[in-house]
Amino acid sequence: MTNAESYKKILLAVDLTEESNDVASRAIFLAEQNQAALHIIHVIEPLGFSYGGDVPMDVSSVQDQIQNQAQQHLREFASGLGIAEERQHLIFGRPESEIQKLAVEISADLILVGSHGRHGIGLLFGSTANGVLHKANCDVLAVRVGSMIENKEQDD
Ligand code: AMP
Repeated sequence: MTNAESYKKILLAVDLTEESNDVASRAIFLAEQNQAALHIIHVIEPLGFSYGGDVPMDVSSVQDQIQNQAQQHLREFASGLGIAEERQHLIFGRPESEIQKLAVEISADLILVGSHGRHGIGLLFGSTANGVLHKANCDVLAVRVGSMIENKEQDD
């Protein structure tokens, strides 16, 4: 790959589940290979979204707790990968929209997401991966997660 073809800024999207490790190790590998800057994003969905925006009680303290925990978890996860704090992004909203918006904002040329291949057209993509793929203006790599052990057993 020549310099002109290499990725310069990679955005790694993580839901902070265990499967994030699979997506992260691919991101680290690609960032090193391309000598690209690696950013990481985790999106917190506001509790109101689950109630169609109309929450029947005050959930602000629960929301604060969720935010604090996510902040800490993201910091630990990202620091373990060697991603500096200024490249760690914790954002409120819908994951697929916020991932795409941040990618534009930082001029990312590659987004990495995990893909379970379990929903809808999702023999190929999970819902978030599918949403990101359709909204993004740059390349998207959907890293297969979850069913990898099953696939491996079939191969053996
Ligand atoms: P899902 O379709 O929700 O199973 O998620 C698949 C992938 O989308 C995850 O492996 C992440 O790469 C990304 N993703 C899902 N939720 C979030 C989130 N809240 N913040 C950032 N990325 C996410």
